[in-house]
Amino acid sequence: MIDEIHLKKFISILDQKGILTQDTDMEPYEKGWRGDHGKAALVLRPANTGEVSKIVSYCVQNNLALVPQSGNTGLMQGSTPDQSGIQILLSFERMNKIFEIDPVNGSAHIGAGCRLSKLNETCEEFDLHFPIDIGSDPCLGGMTSTNSGGSRFLKYGGVRENTLGLKVVLGDENGTILDLLMPLHKNNVGPDLKHMFIGTCGIFGLITEVIVKLAPNLKQQATALLVPKDLASVNILLREIEKRLGTYLSAFEGMSGEALKRGIEHNPNISNPFAPEGIPDYALLIEISRTWDKRDAEQSLDEILETTLEELWEFPNTPLANAVIAAPEKLWDIRHGLSEGTQKSGKLIGFDISFKRGDLIAFKNHMTAYLKENYPHIAICDFGHIGDGGMHFSLVIPFDHKHAKDTDFQTNLRKNVFDIVVKKFGGSFSAEHSLGRINMKAYQDYTRKEVKEINRKIKSLLSPASISAIEFE
Ligand SMILES: Cc1cc2nc3c(=O)[nH]c(=O)nc-3n(C[C@H](O)[C@H](O)[C@H](O)COP(=O)(O)OP(=O)(O)OC[C@H]3O[C@@H](n4cnc5c(N)ncnc54)[C@H](O)[C@@H]3O)c2cc1C
Repeated sequence: MIDEIHLKKFISILDQKGILTQDTDMEPYEKGWRGDHGKAALVLRPANTGEVSKIVSYCVQNNLALVPQSGNTGLMQGSTPDQSGIQILLSFERMNKIFEIDPVNGSAHIGAGCRLSKLNETCEEFDLHFPIDIGSDPCLGGMTSTNSGGSRFLKYGGVRENTLGLKVVLGDENGTILDLLMPLHKNNVGPDLKHMFIGTCGIFGLITEVIVKLAPNLKQQATALLVPKDLASVNILLREIEKRLGTYLSAFEGMSGEALKRGIEHNPNISNPFAPEGIPDYALLIEISRTWDKRDAEQSLDEILETTLEELWEFPNTPLANAVIAAPEKLWDIRHGLSEGTQKSGKLIGFDISFKRGDLIAFKNHMTAYLKENYPHIAICDFGHIGDGGMHFSLVIPFDHKHAKDTDFQTNLRKNVFDIVVKKFGGSFSAEHSLGRINMKAYQDYTRKEVKEINRKIKSLLSPASISAIEFE
């Protein structure tokens, strides 16, 4: 519920399309991907930066809490309101304009509420795309504020590496608009302030427009599933494949047998690619790609993959146990089905973590032994972008086990795993999903004191008021 006086003010700022107050209209905005379901005071849907600025200014002056939301595909519970019923959900979905595609500059200027799919469809006529490849369809504002990574990070980097400019509304009494919309690839004139807002989930300011880099479309792709001889062979394969395929290599993904099993079980459209053999304990999906059509004189990418695999088979102590070359859509469907499959197969305790690449398998081995000894009922269903050291470490508790409903147990387990990731292996508690209510405790526990202090100071300088679901406290 919102006071009548505030509602009147919001009606004066936005047209009626911009305000939702009915429970049924608000419900989709209140539910997140990770089972979070809060209660909003109302939903505001501004159409431009000026309206965002007025809303922020009014909310700051009247101490009203805001939760920014773009595509609502975030996995850290940062885009949904809490249960209090007093937070105002600020949706960017109407700010979905594509202002400009500049094919020569290789850039696009878009509103924060523009979906990735819409941007890519529009870029199609210029044979360009935004090269962050993820299994959801988020908006550019959310992607920027979470600095999303995706499957082709190895080749293109994440959002940070692909952002040229931003427009931001700061959390102060004026709702100050900070215009950092420079479409320049090079601009070396002191601190590059846009980076303050990339990956900070709205804590430092709300992103209303972005200018991103575009890349030529991929015209040829080839993919293979590799079964390593054992887990130690994964690192050998990574190095040998990078050496042999160079910049053609666009993805190097890992998939545990447990995740594959659940992905296949819970998705009728995908089947065991290794049949008639069983599902292996671990498999890698590798993709190579080129931005031009096959020329007569050159080998196809399938042939290049075959040659590479032959070379690996011929190693005296080959790191390969099996390999399947198949159509990219087929293999990516399997990879993208893992998230949903693990989620449906039991109570999911998900971690999005990262390591120095060589430590990833050592961590997996350590955790396999640790869980087997302490919690044998928990299945490790890990998968992820292991070419860049990232791992979606998904632990699944059977729905009928008492721990599936025991939140204290799950909190302790989370803490134990994070301790091992950060303290024992020097890894990160958030590889690419950024921050949210799920991992703010980890931010408090594992971020250095002096770093937290600087973050607080930057926060008070840029956006002294709270304008997001989470805070640097
Ligand atoms: C099936 C699936 C697959 C996924 N795969 C990947 C993957 O491979 N790699 C990856 O990195 N992520 C992945 N994600 C996570 C998610 O899609 C990304 O984090 C995405 O970038 C979130 O964008 P969004 O528009 O949905 O943001 P939202 O969910 O709306 O918001 C995310 C966070 O940003 C804040 N925020 C939103 N808009 C703004 C704004 N305009 N200004 C300031 N703050 C704002 C929110 O308050 C929240 O804290 C996946 C998610 C799903 C469901």
